[in-house]
Formats: sequence, structure tokens, C-alpha cells
Amino acid sequence: MHTYSRQPLLLVKGEGCRVWDEAGREYLDFVAGLAVCNLGHAHPAVAAAAATQLKELVHVSNLYYTTPQIELAEELVRLTFADRVFFCNSGAEAVEAALKLARRYAAELFGPEKHRLVCMHNSFHGRTFGALSATGQEKFRQGFEPLLPGFVFVPFNDFDALDTTVDDRTCAVLLEPIQGEGGVNPADPDYLLAVRRLCNEREVLLVFDEVQTGMGRTGRLFAYERFGVTPDIMAVAKALANGLPMGALLAKEEVAQAFTPGTHASTFGGGPVLAAAAKAALEIVGAPEFLTAVREKGAYLEDRLQDLKSRFPVIREVRGVGLMWGLELEAEGAPVVDACREQGLLVNCTQGNVIRLLPPLIVEPAELDQGLEILAAALEKMPL
Ligand SMILES: *Cc1c(COP(=O)(O)O)cnc(C)c1O
Repeated sequence: MHTYSRQPLLLVKGEGCRVWDEAGREYLDFVAGLAVCNLGHAHPAVAAAAATQLKELVHVSNLYYTTPQIELAEELVRLTFADRVFFCNSGAEAVEAALKLARRYAAELFGPEKHRLVCMHNSFHGRTFGALSATGQEKFRQGFEPLLPGFVFVPFNDFDALDTTVDDRTCAVLLEPIQGEGGVNPADPDYLLAVRRLCNEREVLLVFDEVQTGMGRTGRLFAYERFGVTPDIMAVAKALANGLPMGALLAKEEVAQAFTPGTHASTFGGGPVLAAAAKAALEIVGAPEFLTAVREKGAYLEDRLQDLKSRFPVIREVRGVGLMWGLELEAEGAPVVDACREQGLLVNCTQGNVIRLLPPLIVEPAELDQGLEILAAALEKMPL
């Protein structure tokens, strides 16, 4: 069905930061499957892990244990604040699981009155009814109402609004540490610290949606580390298995125990092929040297983007962290996306006027230079 306005491009092959179309034309890919292929395309270690497992054991359901799932869960627990993991198949499903866990935890501990979720304007959490009910953007909700009851919205980065909204009926606050689809809007570090404090004081869970910001994107394995603010529950997906569909819900023990056998499930969740791929990806992305390199390349990219801003008045603002950047333009972004593509660079535009750059984390500085040259040439053609 026609649910995407697609680019006129048929892609047939990928390797590292590059993809090729059916005519053999090469493109530098700064979309990376929308922050999914963090290790680039056709990463040999991920491909080998998945291929080996594909020939060994593909699916048995979660009625039984499998080694890849156990090892992946152990690794996620070792590398994060979490004590327990629930596996699913997408970002929206991870958010659904987070909403259900938050409600159930509060219902058991405080009773059914404490069921409200406080969410952010301009957020994006996915397209299923629960995730959509938490998404604070009218354009996604329109025509699907009534959505789930019990969701209230406050402006992002506005502590006073949160302070007056969180009450006895609030079970959780849900936010993206850096709003991705909403236009690459990072949280103020002081705001997140204050949100954490407020949640502690009022016995409210703090839920982070790290579907886009996770798996090294910000130069830390997860963005919460960068802010020094630990959530109680975290939704992960996108880059978890570097291109294979996998999501996960992470939580501390005390919260996780609200899910008991039968309360939540997923037939495919955490299947051995995906888990083997994710474990291979995590081994690379979770290494401190790898993350240091992401931070260094991120700082380099930031400098170069600020240079662009000083050269092109059409750039209103440059925002981002690590290798997740947005250039807010004074004009529509679609012509820039088209001009870049014609010159061999794939970039995404969100919110109509924010050019979003999400290069694979393995990108080389020379590839960043090459991409930015194409971007500069495209901006050159813009009025202003
Ligand atoms: C992409 C995204 C989702 C939805 O993930 P799907 O896999 O498309 O369901 C949820 N939250 C955030 C922050 C995202 O960027």
C-alpha cells in the first residue's frame, strides 16, 4: 500500500557506507536504513553470525530457551542499567511493551488509578495504537481517533509543564533523550536530571525510547549514559540487529517483575537468528574504542556542519549528538534531498525542513567529507 512517499530509486546492493542501484550507480548512504545499519551494509561479522545460525536453528518459540537469546540478554544486561530483557520485533512493539509494563507495575503497586502516561509534544514512538497514543504529533494521529485513553502531553524540555502535569494518577513519563523523527531535538541535560528527580519523588517510572538513539548512535552505547540519567525502562530496536527486525524492552528487576508468565509475549521475539546477529553487532558497537571513534567522528561532523551553517544562511540551526544530526532549513528540505541523491548521497528529511544525517557509525572522515561536499553543492542551489 502507498504508505511511503518513496524516492525514485531501486537499490540492489550495499557494502559499508555505500549502496548501489540497479543501474550500478553508487550512493553514499547517510540514512543507513533510518539509523538501523549502524555497522553499515552487509557487515561481515553480522552476516556470518546470522548465516551460521540460519543453518543451525531458526525458530522454536519462546516456550524454550536458545543459546543466542540467552547470550544476547546477558550482554544487554552487562552493558546497561537493566537486569532483565524482553525481546520483540520492532520499535513500536518495544514501546507497546514499555507502556504495558509501566501500567502493570503501577497497577500492582498502587492500584488502577495510577495509569496515566505523560508524553512529549513532537515525540515519535511508532504507529501501533499504543505507540501512536504516546506520539505527540497530530499528523500521525489524524483519522485514527479515538486512541487509547490515559495519555497526556507536555512540551519537551519544559520542566514546569511536567511538574504541574505529573500527579497521583501518573504511572510513567515517556520520552526520547533526543527526539529523532521530531527533527533531531536533544533534551537539555539539566531537564533530564530534573525529570529523573521528579519521577523519584512522585513514584513515577521514567521510560526512555532509545529506539533511534541507541546502539552507539550518540557515541555512547545508549544516549542515557551521555546524559548521566538512568531510566527505569528502555525501549530499543532499529540498530539492535543491524538491519534484521528486532526490538527489546530493558528494565530494572523491580519493575520487570510486573511481567509474569502470560502477561506479555511475542512469537518471533528474540529468535535465534536475530539474536545471533544482534550479539555480533553488540560485540562491535559496545567496544569502548568503537564508541570513542564515534564520538571523535561526531565532533568532526559537528564542526563541519557548523562551517556549512556559517556559509549558507538557508541553514537556520544545526542540532545533534554523535552521528545523529539535523539541519533545520529556512526552506523545504525535499529539493536538497533530491539534489543530493542525484549527486550520489542519500539523506533524509524530517518535519518538512530538517535534513537528517544518520551515517553508519563505521563512516570514515573522508566519507563524511565527500558527503558534506555533495550536501554543500545541493545547498548552493537553494534560494537565500
Ligand atoms: C523508528 C522509531 C520508532 C518505531 O520503530 P518501528 O520499528 O518503526 O516500529 C519508535 N521510536 C523511535 C524513537 C523511533 O525512532
